[in-house]
This record gives sequence, C-alpha cells and structure tokens, in this order.
Amino acid sequence: MSVSQLARTIKESPTLRLNEEARILRAKGEPVIHLGAGEPKNKAPITALLTSSARLNLGDIKYTPVDGLPSLKKAIIRCTEEHYGRLAAPENIIVTTGAKQALYNILFSIVNPQDEVILLAPYWVSYPEMVKMVYGIPVIVTPGDGSFHPRMEDIEQAVSSYTKAIIVNSPNNPSGVIYDDTFIKEVVEYCEKKGIYLILDDIYHTLVFDGKQAVPGYKFTKEDLDSTRLIVVNGVSKQYGMTGFRIGWVIAPRKLVEVMINVQAQMTSNASVVSQAAAEGALTGVQSVVESLRLTIQNNRDVMMQELSTFEGVRVTQPDGTFYCLPDFRAFNEDSIELAKFLLSKALVVTVPGASFGMEGHLRLSYAGSVKDIKEGVARIKWALDPNSPNEIYIGDRKIIRDWL
Ligand code: PMP
Repeated sequence: MSVSQLARTIKESPTLRLNEEARILRAKGEPVIHLGAGEPKNKAPITALLTSSARLNLGDIKYTPVDGLPSLKKAIIRCTEEHYGRLAAPENIIVTTGAKQALYNILFSIVNPQDEVILLAPYWVSYPEMVKMVYGIPVIVTPGDGSFHPRMEDIEQAVSSYTKAIIVNSPNNPSGVIYDDTFIKEVVEYCEKKGIYLILDDIYHTLVFDGKQAVPGYKFTKEDLDSTRLIVVNGVSKQYGMTGFRIGWVIAPRKLVEVMINVQAQMTSNASVVSQAAAEGALTGVQSVVESLRLTIQNNRDVMMQELSTFEGVRVTQPDGTFYCLPDFRAFNEDSIELAKFLLSKALVVTVPGASFGMEGHLRLSYAGSVKDIKEGVARIKWALDPNSPNEIYIGDRKIIRDWL
C-alpha cells in the first residue's frame, strides 16, 4: 500500500498497543494484570456527568466556537488563576481534543521543517513522534548523572540555532519525578532570554504526593501572558480521571492562540460539545474529587514502593506524582522490549518498556489500577525473574511452574 514517507516513520503508540494486546488476552479469558495503564479507575465526577447529560437532554449538540465554549473558558480562567496565580484572557486559551491534540497543535503552529525540539529523557512516548509529524527534529537530552532529573548544563549543550522549543513535563510521565524549583526557574529564565518556546505539559500537576508541589513555570517570568515564551498544556484527563472525554487546553500568547485556532479549525473544528460540558462540570464542581483521587493514587504508590522494595536487583526512584514509576531492571535484562514481552507471555503482566521513553533497561509500571493488581502484578514479575522466589505460582486458577531460571 502506498503511504507517505512521513507516516511510515511514525511509530505505533506502545502504550495503546499494549492496551490492545491486554484486551485481546482478557477477551480470551486470560487473567492479565495491566500495569501499563495510563488512567485511574475512578468514575467521572458526578458534576461532569450531570452537565454533560443535561447537554444531551437538551438535544442541542452542535459545533461550538473552535477555541471552546465561553463558559468552559471561564472555568479554565478560574482554574488557571487558582493554580498559577495568573489571570488569562479568553483569547489566551484554546480548548482541544485532549492534551494530546493540544501538544500536536502547538508543535504544528511553531515548528518549521528541520527545527529542533528538545525533549528531556525520560520523556512521554508521544513527544518524539509528534515532533516528527511536523517535520521537526526531536533532540533528546538525557541527564548526565544517571538520575531522572534534567540538568541545565546538558540542555544548554543541546541547544542550537535551530532549537525552537523545549518540552518540560513535571510531574513526569514515566518517572513520577517532580523537577525542582531551581531547575524550573533556570529553564524558564533561559527560554525567555533566548526566545525559545517552553512547553510546560502540566497534565499531572494536581497528582502530587507527600505535600510536594510542582512549581508553576509562570512563577519565574515577569512577562505577561501575551509576551511570554511559556506555553502551558493542561486538561481533565488525569486530574479528574476523565480520559475518555478527551478535553485539554492550552494557555499561550494570544497571537499564537490565533494561529492555533486556524490550525484546529481546519483539522477538528472544536472538541465535542458534550465533553466540553463535562469538563466545565468537573472544573466548577466540588474539587474534593481531585483530592480523593490524589489520595487513592498516593496510597497505590506506597503499595507499589513497598512491593518493589522486597525485589532484590530492582532499583526504583520513589515518584513524587503521576501514577507511574520507572524501575531499573538492568540486573535482569538490558533489553526492556524483550523483557516486557517476556513478562507478558510468562506472567501475563503488562508493563511498558523503558526504551519507549528513552530509558533502556527500565520498565514503566503504573499504579493507577487496584491495590490487588499492583501486589499480584509485582509478585508475578518477581516470580518470573527472581531465582530466590518460589518457583510455583497461581495465575488465575492455573498453577504454573517456572522452568527457565
Ligand atoms: N501528556 C502526558 C505527559 C501524558 O502522559 C498524556 C496522557 N498519557 C497526555 C499528555 C495526553 O493527555 P490526553 O489524554 O488529555 O490527551
């Protein structure tokens, strides 16, 4: 079949493929444990369900303005003021179909062919592919000290006259690390000085643990929202566990938002009106739902850390936020793709290979699911890899004997 050269270079999303593999195995009755999931198990907030069903009951399901319903923008303005201490104008905001489209739209609007976009490893899987999709070049910067925390000196070395933007995602998918205030200050000041766009993917900003917080980039710039180089991405997917509604948004200088509106107008028009109503319901409803989700996930994180602490050979950095951790499995296998396949076939546990995030030898394990799944998932991985663990295990109602160690 004839497809474009560009499309041919775009890799399949490993997380979505694993979801599909797990779904097929489950449909066959296999007791798969999914430690790859990028979404919590909660029900959508009741206020989101009420506002979206009210919209459906009205039967008034039409196009909205490309940049979003004015009432939703009002809710976003309030939430931006609350979390970032900045008063955005409606013209600084565009509502998108998930944070994913927000990011793609930003890149489409700022990147020329051959422009470089700096990504900080470990990075979210979609960033490099999205940069390639606009004919840009992803430039990966890996921390020189072996940690998951980027260093300004490494970034400065990677910047060239082609650098158009840097993407910062803190709390970070896949490591769960929150970048410290000093780093955020340095990178904001650097980008403002150099005229490089700084894309702050803040999709996990409320999913933080132990009283820690991800400092907003806006804290470190004196520029107003129309002259700053900062572009902030957010949405309802993670903080309210509303992934299926597909609502995200961007806060950016209005001149850039104008361009993004033109791009979106030709691409998707607007995000679904029913979903926009749901997002408005979530943002204007009781916010205790966010706290309750945060506490559940923090507890899950504690369970995951506890289970991994008894796993000899595995080293893990305790996450400060998100619902992921990125343990180092190099003691068992340097090739994370091979290891993830092995664990799926032998132990029926879905993990995501670190290679997809620019961290070979690691696996991303999600603790967005149930405590039972976390415990059993890690127990199965241990059984499959650790010669000191008992060589028999029950997977579902089958007793399986390990015969490969
Ligand atoms: N950014 C990051 C870092 C993510 O992890 C995700 C979802 N996995 C997104 C953006 C996309 O979010 P959405 O579902 O709103 O498109």
